[in-house]
Amino acid sequence: MNWYYAREGRQVGPLSEQDLKLQVAAGVIRADTLVWHEGMAGWQAYGSVASGTDAGAPASRPTCTQCGRAFAPEEMIRFGDRWVCATCKPAFVQGLKEGAIAPEQFRYGGFWLRFAAVLIDGIIMGVVGFILQFPLFLKMMTAPQETGSFRWLGLQMLLNLIKFVLSLGYETWFVGAFGATPGKMVCGLKVVMPDGSKIGYARALARFFAKIISYLTLCIGFVMAAFDDEKRALHDRICETRVVKS
Ligand SMILES: [Zn+2]
Repeated sequence: MNWYYAREGRQVGPLSEQDLKLQVAAGVIRADTLVWHEGMAGWQAYGSVASGTDAGAPASRPTCTQCGRAFAPEEMIRFGDRWVCATCKPAFVQGLKEGAIAPEQFRYGGFWLRFAAVLIDGIIMGVVGFILQFPLFLKMMTAPQETGSFRWLGLQMLLNLIKFVLSLGYETWFVGAFGATPGKMVCGLKVVMPDGSKIGYARALARFFAKIISYLTLCIGFVMAAFDDEKRALHDRICETRVVKS
């Protein structure tokens, strides 16, 4: 297979697979260097085609766990399951030494995935809440004059309490027993301790209340996950938990 690569706006080649590898090793061809060979629809960054040495195989570009950018595997260093690019390597190794980076491989659940999980759980609890609310809703339609009565308010408060206890039980039981609520299971997420172990029921319960704090911060506590290097939301910080891809 003949390869070509772009250098300073010009096409270089043809090169054999072997010569191409040599150029990569020499640092002439990098992840962002545009390359092309017969059969490719167009020029692509070497990083996106590198691992697919046999033609047609979908290229898998490992992404640096530190900066999130994709590189050719040749340009990266592997630590267990983690890929780290050359630029990030010194800081990463330092982090490992200082214990700031856990030696275990974690693929942290990102903000949008977690958002989807929260949404799914919200829908589930919303449906349950709607069913519970339905008798009161009917009453409101058929006998609106009663909606202001103390009995009605009492019922509404009782209902709210039941809903609260249900969501507490839902979160605590699922996370305590399985490490994930149904929403998180669907999204392939799991709540774990920093060392990867189960968080248990007590911490799951504590996390439920810590989550309320995240809501009370106008959800800024949730958004924090998007900007944290370990994707920790406020309640993860409080409870020392991590949300990882299972
Ligand atoms: Zn990097």
